[in-house]
Amino acid sequence: MKQSAIFLDRDGTIIYDFGYLKSPNEVKFFPGTFSSLQKLQNSFKLFIITNQSGISKGITTPDEVMQVNDYIVNELKSQGIVVSDVFCCPHSNEDNCICKKPNPYFILQAAKLYNLNLENSYIIGDHPSDVECGQNAGINSIYLLTGHGEKHKDELKNEFRICENIVEASECILNN
Ligand SMILES: [Mg+2]
Ligand SMILES: [Zn+2]
Repeated sequence: MKQSAIFLDRDGTIIYDFGYLKSPNEVKFFPGTFSSLQKLQNSFKLFIITNQSGISKGITTPDEVMQVNDYIVNELKSQGIVVSDVFCCPHSNEDNCICKKPNPYFILQAAKLYNLNLENSYIIGDHPSDVECGQNAGINSIYLLTGHGEKHKDELKNEFRICENIVEASECILNN
């Protein structure tokens, strides 16, 4: 049977958004990230999709971003949480790439690689580009008010489900 997935944004969704992170020392998980993902992974495969335009802008190096991503995956693993894959776009808008959210590229790639059932899958993120990415891929989208969420709420072009944080989003998904 095809499995469903949760596509998680990184900054502002599972960890605090302190800008372009260069080191694992700067990673701080939201309270409730671990317990939420522990519950979600009973029914969903977990993925992280992150835009890291700091690389294209020369603010961060690919290696720094990779170290932060690896640290996050390992911290989650130490809590019994398995992230199946991390997809990272290193580009900025000027690069006109195919992979930066709201492009659905990574979701569609994951669906192929992991034989996913997108119909019952979700993206969770704190930026309009996250929920638009979900919409472009034809999956369910939840907009969070953590991170940049509160600030960009009025820019949402469509009606999306809005949740306070990752905890409320996971409850919303599991009670659905
Ligand atoms: Mg974010
Ligand atoms: Zn890209």
